[in-house]
Amino acid sequence: MHYTIIPVTPYQQNCTLLVCEKTRRAALVDPGGDLDILLAEVKQQGVELQAILVTHGHMDHIGGVAELAKRLNLPIIGPQREDEFWIQSLAEQCRMFGFPASESFQPTRWLNDGDTVQVGEQTLQVIHCPGHTPGHVVFFNAAARLAIVGDVLFKGSIGRTDFPRGDYQTLIDSIQLKLWPLGGDIAFIPGHGPMSTFAAEMRHNPFVAVK
Ligand SMILES: [Zn+2]
Repeated sequence: MHYTIIPVTPYQQNCTLLVCEKTRRAALVDPGGDLDILLAEVKQQGVELQAILVTHGHMDHIGGVAELAKRLNLPIIGPQREDEFWIQSLAEQCRMFGFPASESFQPTRWLNDGDTVQVGEQTLQVIHCPGHTPGHVVFFNAAARLAIVGDVLFKGSIGRTDFPRGDYQTLIDSIQLKLWPLGGDIAFIPGHGPMSTFAAEMRHNPFVAVK
């Protein structure tokens, strides 16, 4: 599985273009905006987009979803259904934070813990990781030892938990009980900022280090 990280929106949210190298089929994870930049990258790589994947319902992650789905007739996969209230409040989120107005949407498929999503011949495992938002999901490709974790975990930090239905201990449990067991060798793409590995965070992240 090949990946390209494309920061979008004024929040520099890491949209990820995932490509199955064998079939050249691809998915965009969290296209929060800047669709022209995203589609230019898709075109340059000459891959065929087959789906939009969503980690959670915050505007910097979903602002471009409805328009992209409509333009290219793509299915919207994720997040877990507990984030429905966030998706429905997209217009309000955009107004509050000064983002360009964007349309809400209904996912084609809600995800649950243990589900799998195909990108070409590659399989992504779905891990429900609530805490930052109640319906946040993480996508894990075991073959590439790669996780796309959205705003659950960052290099040296963790997601905010002061939003409606956020919960600090739930987030810590998601990371320590659901992500760490996947293995220290896993590299992850966070929703913002640079990549890291689970091993580095287990050792150095002040919020979730293993003592
Ligand atoms: Zn978020």
